[in-house]
Amino acid sequence: MRRQLAVLPGDGVGPEVTREAVKVLATVSACTGRSLEFREAPCGGAAVEAWGDPLPEFVLELCRQSDAVLLGAVGGPRWDGLPLRLRPEQGLLRLRRHLGVFANLRPVRLHPALVPVSPLRRPTGDIDLVICRELTGGLYYGEPRERTTGEDGTITARDTMTYNNHEIARIARVALALAAGRRRRLTSVDKANVLECSRLWREVVQEEAAAFPQVQVGHLYVDDAAARLVHSPHHFDVILTENTFGDILSDLGAVLAGSMGLLPSASLGPARGGLYEPVHGSAPDIAGEGIANPIGAILSAALLLEHALGLKEEAGLVEAAVAKTLAQGYRTKDLAAGGERGLSTAEMGDAVVRAVVQLSEEGDVKHAHLP
Ligand code: NAD
Repeated sequence: MRRQLAVLPGDGVGPEVTREAVKVLATVSACTGRSLEFREAPCGGAAVEAWGDPLPEFVLELCRQSDAVLLGAVGGPRWDGLPLRLRPEQGLLRLRRHLGVFANLRPVRLHPALVPVSPLRRPTGDIDLVICRELTGGLYYGEPRERTTGEDGTITARDTMTYNNHEIARIARVALALAAGRRRRLTSVDKANVLECSRLWREVVQEEAAAFPQVQVGHLYVDDAAARLVHSPHHFDVILTENTFGDILSDLGAVLAGSMGLLPSASLGPARGGLYEPVHGSAPDIAGEGIANPIGAILSAALLLEHALGLKEEAGLVEAAVAKTLAQGYRTKDLAAGGERGLSTAEMGDAVVRAVVQLSEEGDVKHAHLP
């Protein structure tokens, strides 16, 4: 059966890394006989330029009709001055909301070959955790969001954080099920000492935990969680948190793993399919140079194979190919030792493609575990 994938390269380094992810998927398709069809469409700043809208209706429709969506990244200084509704990031927020992808899984793993690259000089143990971030609620979506000017000229900006018990319960169940299939430890992160949303969050997580007695559930305030992630990341298995805290903590996680360019994500909802994108943004500081690390995008493609298409072996093949490539010493600039040029984005993609071909010829696919 032919599976249809919507490909939204987006802005900045988005198209550069997405090209490599598609190359890897096409290689998997050729090696395994799984038929994949790619349909590309603009999103973010690219769509603002072409259509005056960061998420035109025809792009949303393409995404709805596809088996999954692979996205690069959106945004950049060129569009920062636009009104909020035209900002590229608003297009992405709308896409997530329309697709109903409320559960954002962000696996953070420090590959053994990259230990010297991690800012943690001596990691205290293996880093292998998943951040399960609520993606369609909280501060990024709450109303009202506005800026008002008072009679005395005082300017006030307002964003609203809201969560209801149903939104919390459904993401808590995803995280608990994930933990039950891993090391059975769940850390829920909130700010319950200050925020009403967080107090409800903690109560609901505790209620949902009753259905998963095998999972050890703990709660941390977000500031403490950030400190512990740096101090003892090996203690964490699954981290459950709301939208804004998850956004911030996952950048921290990415850096622990060696680079912003390494981390993938899967955004899932009640329907099969979902949205797959690297954790990083459009990296305007290196866009156009051909040096972005494509591994986060390639591993996002592996998550797509696993979660959207149910192709576990093929996902394992891509993960194993990335692990092999890193173990062989291939490095883009962000991972290279000081002063070294590193491989280009395309050269790194080619190295992973070669590893996919070799592993599939050898039939030697080690099933790396995916969340
Ligand atoms: P960023 O993730 O784009 O960049 C942060 C740092 O990481 C930069 O130094 C960058 O060079 C580096 N980096 C990022 N991806 C890399 C890669 N693949 N290889 C090597 N290095 C990489 O975050 P930012 O600078 O805060 O944001 C830039 C733009 O991206 C903004 O417009 C922001 O709104 C947008 N953004 C989009 C998304 C998304 O599309 N999901 C996520 C975050 C930020």
